[in-house]
Amino acid sequence: MMTPDHSADPLILSGIHYQTHEPVDVTVASGIITDIHQREQVSEEALAFIGPGLVDIQVNGFAGVDFNDAALTADGVMTITRSLLQLGVTTFYPTIITNANETIRTILKTIDLACETSTLVASCIGGIHLEGPFISPEEGPLGAHPKAHVKPPDWSLLASFIEASGGRVRIITLSPEWPESAKFIRRCVEHGLLVAIGHTAANPTQIQEAVAAGARLSTHLGNAAHQLLPRHPNYIWEQLAQDELAASVIADGFHLPPSVLKVIFRMKAEKAILISDSVSLGGMPPGNYYSPVGGEVVLTDEGKLHMAGKPMMLAGSAQPLLWGINQLVHLQLASLTQAWDMASINPSRLLNLPQQGGLTIGAPADLVIFSFNKIVKVYKKGCDTEIHRENTEIRREK
Ligand SMILES: [Zn+2]
Repeated sequence: MMTPDHSADPLILSGIHYQTHEPVDVTVASGIITDIHQREQVSEEALAFIGPGLVDIQVNGFAGVDFNDAALTADGVMTITRSLLQLGVTTFYPTIITNANETIRTILKTIDLACETSTLVASCIGGIHLEGPFISPEEGPLGAHPKAHVKPPDWSLLASFIEASGGRVRIITLSPEWPESAKFIRRCVEHGLLVAIGHTAANPTQIQEAVAAGARLSTHLGNAAHQLLPRHPNYIWEQLAQDELAASVIADGFHLPPSVLKVIFRMKAEKAILISDSVSLGGMPPGNYYSPVGGEVVLTDEGKLHMAGKPMMLAGSAQPLLWGINQLVHLQLASLTQAWDMASINPSRLLNLPQQGGLTIGAPADLVIFSFNKIVKVYKKGCDTEIHRENTEIRREK
């Protein structure tokens, strides 16, 4: 269990720095990294790696609990929080997709309640991500969102969502194809929201206007798109070319081919962000399930989640961020350090979190100690979360 006090202060954690590959001692006091210095040379085998906690800005569910279920409870939010901590995720953004207005408000209130009743949950939830309902109604861009609840941007409706969440909404994914989107985006930015373009059929001009109004992220770029697009211009090229836009990607090995990931990483560099976009079946064993998103679904031994009888139709992702990091290393699309940064520092910088410091003095002591066999320990604000998990392999670079 996590202890609320810091009686063990100062704590010294030793490990191989995940960026420099030098052995270091990291001193932690009052939840903050207060010192880092190099220690005597030891072999990489003698010491595990140490890196910043992972940050997942798009989590629809995990460990059998769904953030899109109106029956969500505060206990369920705690279950997800603990399950993600076991996998090195120390900050995450519960993501609520398009739904009936009242259902969205009910879920937002439950997440707020979970934060009010647990300091651990409150410290791990960076904010809430509203993915919808102001998205495209077109087949393809709509993805698995229910069309009946898609609607044009509506400030008073969004204000009611923000109020229900206790002011915890931080990210909104919308499509700028609706009239007056730029005005709406400007208002969101003024209220401190990060505006993301996603589930969109917007034309390049609408995307340019959205960026000018303050949109700063493309949500799972390359997915939730038409099967066929004009070769150019189209909304994928336009978002790739907009330097102001960061891009999140689902790198589970099923959502995007390696060539697309490579192009996005080259274009977006430090603005490339890994997300899990996991649904409630994340972290569950292979098998046949019923999912709120997709109905009858199959989770294969390879980790792919698809509609029953339709292996080509994905039903969301069932894999955590760590899986995406492993995929990038395995496919040689990124070094372990680069992949880890895409899942920690890069999203923290976009959201201006103190965690953007990573492994530096003054940054929160959200730390992961890992070997190539597994995650060894996870610290949240300097507290040992006492994880017990074997299934956390981290891939070695070739
Ligand atoms: Zn989506």
